[in-house]
Amino acid sequence: MKTFSTEKELQAISAKLLKEGKTIGFVPTMGALHSGHISLIEAANEACDFSVCSIFVNPTQFDKQVDLDKYPITIEADKKLLEAANCDFLLLPSVAEVYPNGKDNYTAPDIGKIVGILEGKHRIGHFEGVMQVVERLLRMTLATDLFMGLKDYQQYLVCSKMTKVVGLDHVKVHGMPIVREKSGLAKSSRNVRLSKNGKELALNISKRLKKTRVLNYKNNIKRLEKKAEEFFEKFPEIELEYFEVVDKNTLMKPTGKDKKENLIALCAAWIDGVRLIDNMVLS
Ligand code: AMP
Repeated sequence: MKTFSTEKELQAISAKLLKEGKTIGFVPTMGALHSGHISLIEAANEACDFSVCSIFVNPTQFDKQVDLDKYPITIEADKKLLEAANCDFLLLPSVAEVYPNGKDNYTAPDIGKIVGILEGKHRIGHFEGVMQVVERLLRMTLATDLFMGLKDYQQYLVCSKMTKVVGLDHVKVHGMPIVREKSGLAKSSRNVRLSKNGKELALNISKRLKKTRVLNYKNNIKRLEKKAEEFFEKFPEIELEYFEVVDKNTLMKPTGKDKKENLIALCAAWIDGVRLIDNMVLS
């Protein structure tokens, strides 16, 4: 695996590969890699001629400075995992390299209501920061394909829309399945910050999503959400931010009769001061 810290060095190689008709699969990450991230590298290797991973803790997508400060950094271990997964290129840029004109010099494209709901409602400015960094990294890497985890389901939809409106519609966006621990807990870089008890408590998130999927056929959306809220009330150590059932394509409440097979449940909750998210398609 070759490691780069500048756009210029990486582009010298990727431009040559593109000229040869090769495809470049890109996996943007913030590091502290786990098997969820590695599944994306494997998917990129499977579908494309070359794979590029970036590790960049993007300051513009954090709404809380403390969350940014506490973000785990494990570069040496990350490199080993990437080597083992046969990742071809690693981009490890500085903030100045990603944002040469300053990180605040950005106007997000208008991609509609999706940026202001769910995660966007609770993390003001989050998706603007995500669109900013993903667009910039796609331009830095010259990627032909983008691989994103459905663990961040809304982020995947936001980035798919963003690429279409900023002139990156040639980039094929792939949404890859959520990798879970045996217990059902969705793998996340943030899980390392959970206490033993916190990790036990966190299992209730995926448990409730599964239960909601089972209940879907006999209950309307309001009832599914109410039952979930009542369930989480039993655990005072879990601070539920939202548990919503929405249309899986628009992330809006369906108008008219619920189409049960088109629904997704999405959840965000705080445990041990750690913000966890998860989701499950209900069909
Ligand atoms: P992050 O480093 O958390 O920004 O995540 C980088 C990419 O890895 C994003 O596309 C995430 O959706 C994806 N990802 C994180 N956790 C998982 C997981 N458990 N399963 C699948 N993809 C994941």
